[in-house]
Amino acid sequence: MTVVIRLHQHATDRERSEVVDRAGRTGVLPRIHSSSLVSTTAPLDDIRVAVSDLPQVAQVGKLTADYPKAAKQSRAIGSVVRLGSTVIGDTGFTVIAGPCSVETPRQMMVTARAVRDAGAHALRGGVFKPRTSPYAFQGLGQSGLDLARDAREDTGLPFVTEVVDVRDVELLAESVDMLQIGARNMQNFALLREVGATRVPVLLKRGFGATVDETLLAAEYLLDGGNDQVVICERGIRTFESSYRFTLDMAAVAVFRERTHLPVLVDPSHAAGERGRVIPLALAAAAGGADGIIVESHCDPATALCDGKQALPVADLPELMHRLMLAASAAGRRLEPLTGTHPTMLLPAPIAAERIRPEKAS
Ligand code: PEP
Ligand code: MN
Repeated sequence: MTVVIRLHQHATDRERSEVVDRAGRTGVLPRIHSSSLVSTTAPLDDIRVAVSDLPQVAQVGKLTADYPKAAKQSRAIGSVVRLGSTVIGDTGFTVIAGPCSVETPRQMMVTARAVRDAGAHALRGGVFKPRTSPYAFQGLGQSGLDLARDAREDTGLPFVTEVVDVRDVELLAESVDMLQIGARNMQNFALLREVGATRVPVLLKRGFGATVDETLLAAEYLLDGGNDQVVICERGIRTFESSYRFTLDMAAVAVFRERTHLPVLVDPSHAAGERGRVIPLALAAAAGGADGIIVESHCDPATALCDGKQALPVADLPELMHRLMLAASAAGRRLEPLTGTHPTMLLPAPIAAERIRPEKAS
């Protein structure tokens, strides 16, 4: 069991030493994480007795696992993570959209422009793809990165891409706005350490067999490396249910909120597996209090080299954005389009709702 002791921001080094000394009297040596954060494995009651009367102590809290830096109790307010000119967290709602993989110059440019015109905040696209089969399309690699760079420059949208190998961290860190660590790599500790050593914002996806606490422990690796720009992403877990690709665990979003100060996004696409289910899951995420979504969208899903079945045609993005605004506001959040120009953005709610019908998967 871990207990965190958060000090007031203005606490001096001497005041922190006093806290460490007092906590140490329990017989367990405390760990110092920052100027205002100390943790210990001593019993909560002993720590309360030892430090609670000190005015520099803001909060003492018990964690369900050993992730003091990711713990909600380690900060007075939730963290915000920069993504280009916008931020993830606080009371906003962020939309990241784009293809599963970067494929052709035209595919990337057409999709990116549609993502921008719909008012989304960032563009996604894999250049290195972690595929279950070694024979499946593995991504374009470096040349895909060049295509993404062109689309990023053309649209002004920040670009999010997955890093699957420690050897690519340096290259990607200098070219993209956010590094995604995929579900299959959530516990690749060498990769977590390497990305934690950068200062590039990270989207850490929950492994589909990982608990909430295991996910937060993975986040702790990133934070422990000094990278405080970490966003958690719920993207569905494996359960007995085989009717869809993964089970979107919205309860986990609520539990992440209880346990961490890190922003939480939802990926409705990989859970849905088929495009007709993506919008309902995206709306559930918005109404359920997520900080945003990352959604797969393609200018021509039928030709997609990866995850085409679950890709929303770009023509559906304006409607998605419109309905997300309504759902996010139900959760007390504001979705402010970055540069929305599509006329559908202006439609009143009932018309937009009428137009969206879950499609049958192709
Ligand atoms: C993806 O975003 O395309 C992806 C591979 O996601 P995940 O790691 O969640 O499966
Ligand atoms: Mn995908």
